[in-house]
Order: sequence, then C-alpha cells, then structure tokens
Amino acid sequence: MKQYELTIGWLYPTLMSTYGDRGNVIVLERRCQWRGYNVKVLPLDQNATAEDIKSVDLIVGGGAQDRQQEIVMRDLQGAKAEAMREKIENGTPGVFTCGSPQLLGHYYEPGFGQRIQGLGILDIVSVHPGENVRRCIGNLVVEVTATRLARDLQEMTGSKPYLIGFENHGGRTKLGKVEALGRVVYGLGNNGEDGTEGVFHQNAIATYSHGPLLPKNPFVADWLIQTALRLKYQQPITLSPIDDTLAMQGREAMFKRLQVDLPT
Ligand code: GLN
Repeated sequence: MKQYELTIGWLYPTLMSTYGDRGNVIVLERRCQWRGYNVKVLPLDQNATAEDIKSVDLIVGGGAQDRQQEIVMRDLQGAKAEAMREKIENGTPGVFTCGSPQLLGHYYEPGFGQRIQGLGILDIVSVHPGENVRRCIGNLVVEVTATRLARDLQEMTGSKPYLIGFENHGGRTKLGKVEALGRVVYGLGNNGEDGTEGVFHQNAIATYSHGPLLPKNPFVADWLIQTALRLKYQQPITLSPIDDTLAMQGREAMFKRLQVDLPT
C-alpha cells in the first residue's frame, strides 16, 4: 500500500493559540497517523518563508487576541501573503477559526485601536463594536449549508451535517459575495443578526467555532484530509474508517443539553 504523506501548515502557533484551536492540529495529525500516513506539522510563523507556505498540503489557523492579530498581519505581507492567496485559491483545504478568518477578510476593526488590513482573500469585513458591547460567547450549533461541503459531508456520514462548537468573539463579520459555511441553529455565528455562520471558499472552512472544532466534528477532519490527499495525489482516495463512537456520543449529549432537535 502506498504511504501517503501530508504536511499540515499551522499559522502562527505561538501568536494564534489563545483559544485552544491547537486541538484541530492534533486531531488532523492523529487521524493521519492512525491510518499509517506520514504526517508533518510545519509552523507558518515569523520564521517561515513564502516557500514554506507553498509547500503545505493543509492549513490550520486558530483564534487570537486583537493585539496578536495585528502582529500577524504585519508579518503576513508581500510574498507570504501572495503564497497564502495562491494556496487558498488553488484549493488547498484549510480550517480557519475566529481570528484567522478575520485576517483572511478585507479588514478587522478591533474594539480599541486601528483597523487591521486583512489579506482580502475572503469577501468579508469584521468589526468589533467596542468593549462595552457584549462578546459573542457560548455553545454554537450550525447546519452546514455550503452546497458542495454539505453534499460531501452528507455522503461521508449518511446524515445532514451539523457542527457543534463554542464561540468566543467580539468581532462581528458581514459577508460579501461569498458562501456562508452554514446556518446558525444555536448561538450567534457571524454577527448575531443574519443567521449565517462562517464562510466556505474553495476548500477553506472559516468559522467562529472553537471547541476546538475538529474533535467535536471528526468527519470535518476527514473531509479536510481526504481533500488534501486527492489534491496532492490527483486520484480518488477514500479514507479508512475510524471508530468515532465516543465523539458521536459526546455530540448527542451536547445536542440534548442544548435542547437542539436535529432531523434524523
Ligand atoms: N480578536 C477577535 C475577536 O474578538 C478574535 C477572537 C478569537 O479568535 N476568538 O473577534
């Protein structure tokens, strides 16, 4: 059997790990290892080059505090910014949480201080209404509505895809001409007003959902891995199953506690 190799690029692990999103990296790494793949995690931080960014097969970006986001955006300029744009536009899969999507959008206005220009890869803008306005904090349940992703996930799991997570953000995000990741079933999502949550662009999943997202929704991790392998090896690769009974029981318990009745 061929031994697949995958490199996971992790955006600014030190600056963008405030909200536990490291769990997403661990889940991707483990699920690859359990299947016998050769997996490597490459930090994409201040020491990384544009070539490093170009070399990865999958990208993970976590949440951050406003100050750290500013430092990241000062670093993610020029050739590095171009490499990120190229990767995402060419379909490299990725999961970007909270602070990361804000940076992939046109700009983020923090509650205090100057507007931070983003990379403009996602047609979104994010504005923090100020420290006197309540943060969006709490459990989050989302029905995936992004057409291709919803279809793929339904095919993988045999049921309508719902994500469960936890949001913790001050910024409110408005979408331009871009597909939302899903529809909020419980919680606030992008802005607490229009019922949208996250963005799906090419193969990039942007979300306000920490949790971290992937341990609570392992089928999304498999979608990311499968998409990365198919792109890299240019053949229809199907992943071997992993026993996710415990994760699924955890999800059931959460839905019950939040009194969210999902269609079966
Ligand atoms: N600093 C951003 C906000 O408050 C992002 C927070 C986060 O990544 N959880 O909106």
